[in-house]
Amino acid sequence: MSNPLHLETELTFSNRFTQELPADPLNTLESRPVIGALFSDVNPEPSPAPSLLAYSPEVLELIGMNSEVVKTPEFTHWVSGNLCLKGMRPHASCYGGHQFGHWANQLGDGRAINLGEIKTDRGQHFTLQLKGAGRTPYSRTADGRAVLRSSVREFLCSEAMHHLGIPTTRALSLVTTGRSVVRDMFYDGHPKSEPGAIVLRVAESFTRFGHFELLAHRQQHALLKQLVDFTIRSDFPEILGDEPKDNTGRWFEVVCQRTAELIVQWQRVGFVHGVMNTDNMSILGLTIDYGPYGWLENYDPKWTPNTTDAAGRRYCFGNQPGIAGWNLTQLANALYPLIGSTAPLERGLDLFSQTFEASWRKMMAQKLGLMTFKPDRDEALIERLWSILEHLEIDMTLFFRTLSQIAPVSHAIESSEIAQRFEPSFYRQDLTTSGDIERLTNWMKDYLERTSEEALTPDQKSAMMKAVNPRYVPRNYLTQMAIDAAEQGDPALIHELLEVFRHPYDDQEDVQRFAQRRPEWARHRAGCSMLSCSS
Ligand code: AMP
Ligand code: MG
Repeated sequence: MSNPLHLETELTFSNRFTQELPADPLNTLESRPVIGALFSDVNPEPSPAPSLLAYSPEVLELIGMNSEVVKTPEFTHWVSGNLCLKGMRPHASCYGGHQFGHWANQLGDGRAINLGEIKTDRGQHFTLQLKGAGRTPYSRTADGRAVLRSSVREFLCSEAMHHLGIPTTRALSLVTTGRSVVRDMFYDGHPKSEPGAIVLRVAESFTRFGHFELLAHRQQHALLKQLVDFTIRSDFPEILGDEPKDNTGRWFEVVCQRTAELIVQWQRVGFVHGVMNTDNMSILGLTIDYGPYGWLENYDPKWTPNTTDAAGRRYCFGNQPGIAGWNLTQLANALYPLIGSTAPLERGLDLFSQTFEASWRKMMAQKLGLMTFKPDRDEALIERLWSILEHLEIDMTLFFRTLSQIAPVSHAIESSEIAQRFEPSFYRQDLTTSGDIERLTNWMKDYLERTSEEALTPDQKSAMMKAVNPRYVPRNYLTQMAIDAAEQGDPALIHELLEVFRHPYDDQEDVQRFAQRRPEWARHRAGCSMLSCSS
């Protein structure tokens, strides 16, 4: 049996953020504005009866920990906030942000506690962070805790995103704390006691747009400059030239490019973040803060999983690119005092649009099995497809996966064949027999004609498409089923789904039940079709 010392030899803490940036001189938990500092020292709240529900073997490997370590009680205690390892410097960071389009002032890590930054044997740096480990000076009136349902969602989705090839923060572990947490899930006067849980998250950095915005808002320009320089040095070494010069503008361009690439990836797989506030935007272009996110089922650009957003639909699927641009504009405003001219910032914002456009076209061409995107033809073809998927209520993921299996054919494809092939992706029960199916058949004829111009064998085309059209995504109802079982004490479905999501582009015939359209029971069920920020 290993002891805490064993765990301690596993990790080397480098703690650049806390060593190089100023700390809050107070160390109480009292909610307060923290001025002139980037973080507050704070210890996780102990978990009374922690139990390890799941962990990610890949993340364990990534941070250089021995796989045997998870079997020790010390590991469970450590990831539950009960064990402080040598070299750790637990802290909560201070940031602000625009929420739903309005400046919200100081927010900060209200229920995230960074344990510290490690440096692995491979020379990589990672910050380790507990989400749900209790109050910090940024918790305002809340408790700093997280419930099991939201923690299962964060754990499963962040790992699934990674395996889909999408930049994301990672999740090492999921524990229940043994403490109940009271939440009013839909803010409608029905508070309920729920199991408390903690996810240990891992990322190169958890810095958000809002870290920079808050310093700019407070006109702390020297500190703002210090944070920009620190971020470039730590996470963007590629833009550091040989001569010392101010590279803030160049850095902003890279942030714009990374953000554009990230959103293209979300649009590719039908991921809707749900709360794209600037405090939830990673400066590294990672998917961060899995709250009321969701996955498109029937294609609907207006769909938002977040009930808080239902009226305005600011964060619906189709708005994500525009909102990312808006968020970058807020970041540009924050950086303006350091640069003193708008040109470099405008260049960055232009680069966002250009990168998004070019990457989106490339991505769509791949989704459709086309070697090159021909704007004059393909734009209209794609527009027609979106309209069909939307109005005929077709499952986006299943549609593209089925399409990946359709070889270019010389003979005319009949409606009946289309109906039969695509039926598993239809939500409208009458669709196969309705006249509307003709719209899909006609589109398919034009599509197959277009693909027949490409010099690809059917197998090559299919392989290219399958590599970007996943079969398995964390459908809202699947995760909810895993939550229901976990709340009854059975984490087996979490493990099973984690395993399936490790290979989202493989056919995995034995688990095809996880590749099915949303069942009818899930259409209006909480957690499956609507989610709130309460977590
Ligand atoms: P979010 O909407 O999750 O991005 O959170 C916005 C802000 O509220 C951040 O400052 C969070 O740290 C804080 N927050 C959210 N939930 C809690 C909670 N249960 N306890 C303390 N702070 C929270
Ligand atoms: Mg957040």
